[in-house]
Amino acid sequence: MSKFVLIGSGLAGGLLAAYLARRGYEVDLYERRADPREGNLVGGRSINLALSTRGIHALEQIGIADEVLKHAIPMRGRMLHPAGAGARTIFAPYDVDPNKHINSIGRAALNTTVIEAAQRYPNVRVHFNHKCSGVDLDSATAQLLDTASPARTSTSRPLSAAADSIIGVDGAFSAVRQSMQLKIENFQYDESYLAHGYKELTIPPGPNASWRMEKEALHIWPRKSFMMIALPNPDGSFTCTLFWEFEGPRSFATTKTDDDVRRFFDEEFPDAVPLMPNLLDDFKNNPTGSLVTIRCAPWFYKDKVALVGDAAHAVVPFYGQGMNAAFEDCVVLDECLAQFPQDRQRAFAGYFHRRKENADALADLALQNFIEMRDKTASRAFRAKKKLDHFLEAALPGIYVPLYTMVTFTQIPYATAARRARIQDALVYAGLIVVMILLLALAVRLLP
Ligand SMILES: Cc1cc2nc3c(=O)[nH]c(=O)nc-3n(C[C@H](O)[C@H](O)[C@H](O)COP(=O)(O)OP(=O)(O)OC[C@H]3O[C@@H](n4cnc5c(N)ncnc54)[C@H](O)[C@@H]3O)c2cc1C
Repeated sequence: MSKFVLIGSGLAGGLLAAYLARRGYEVDLYERRADPREGNLVGGRSINLALSTRGIHALEQIGIADEVLKHAIPMRGRMLHPAGAGARTIFAPYDVDPNKHINSIGRAALNTTVIEAAQRYPNVRVHFNHKCSGVDLDSATAQLLDTASPARTSTSRPLSAAADSIIGVDGAFSAVRQSMQLKIENFQYDESYLAHGYKELTIPPGPNASWRMEKEALHIWPRKSFMMIALPNPDGSFTCTLFWEFEGPRSFATTKTDDDVRRFFDEEFPDAVPLMPNLLDDFKNNPTGSLVTIRCAPWFYKDKVALVGDAAHAVVPFYGQGMNAAFEDCVVLDECLAQFPQDRQRAFAGYFHRRKENADALADLALQNFIEMRDKTASRAFRAKKKLDHFLEAALPGIYVPLYTMVTFTQIPYATAARRARIQDALVYAGLIVVMILLLALAVRLLP
């Protein structure tokens, strides 16, 4: 049976290894970091994530959805924290159906679960502490360095791993993709960074591991050009993420001293400050991450190499879909391999064509949703539109489906969802204009 080498055992790498092993392929998975079960997984990435329908479907296919959801906390809507001391929070459900929710899940627990799912197959071998430095595309051979210790890295001989095909599941800064850039003529590549960075902060648990804010919600402090969000964790804590400009009069760059930090938080997030006893330490010690969108094409080279997940399409995190989309990639690639078992290049091409348009649509949706979360959620007009969405969804089931619902609670391809939402919005606005004209005409007729 053919052999696959996978580079990267992050969220999608472990899951893809399980999918490939289930089809009977030999799989060698190389990861630059140590085994996450040894406890040093996160390294500056988000501690928890929102898992929704697409991701759950991908986990179900491999039989681990229940195992994952056991550790999840349902989030039924957004809890908005308006600006100003004493302002009351407002809960906005995600869907008209109260049973529809997204799930807050720890990255470490999820990563461990997918790796263990892969390791249950005897034809999967996982090699931690192996960093890929490049790939020879024509021979499908990965060059690797043993990263178990810095001393060994500088002295150890480079290793190589050959396979029938190599899959780069090595995240936004993929080494596999870089090798494709060097080799493939006209390889399209675009990366764009937001002017905002992010920093994670913590609200520790209350007494007896209780949650100090509403537990089953994604909390948002929308502040027009920036925002903070918080997702619940099973231990009673919340992980907060501040998305803020890197530069500018009020920004990460200008907020240096403890007083600067305290003043900023007192002004902007007065209800959160009493819940964050470690704020100053967290702010000083936690890294400030950047937010990148990466688009590239093609995602494959002959029958030799392919890209999956963030390596193919990193998106900003504001729709909570990066991981969900990466998991959906695994499902689609698996389907394409089943469709063309004897023609790997056709399988890779089919996978790329089914996913590319959707990854591009998701990248746009994620950027738009940043503006929606940080700015529009605070406005009455936005909340009225959400209520209208839910009213129409209930009145016209299956006919009118809000964009958020299509993206988060269905498997409608992202590009189709975006197109359908544009048409729905145009019809709703046209309908509202007609109603207003009719009301105006009626008022004029009734005037004495
Ligand atoms: C702040 C933030 C919040 C987010 N929130 C959400 C959310 O709520 N919901 C959601 O769906 N998505 C979210 N995402 C996106 C999500 O984290 C990614 O889409 C997801 O991790 C992609 O999975 P992946 O396996 O493709 O890449 P990764 O998870 O990045 O895994 C890549 C793996 O490859 C390894 N690797 C990298 N280079 C090499 C190399 N040269 N050799 C060997 N191994 C290598 C890495 O160590 C890593 O283990 C968020 C992202 C951020 C930054």
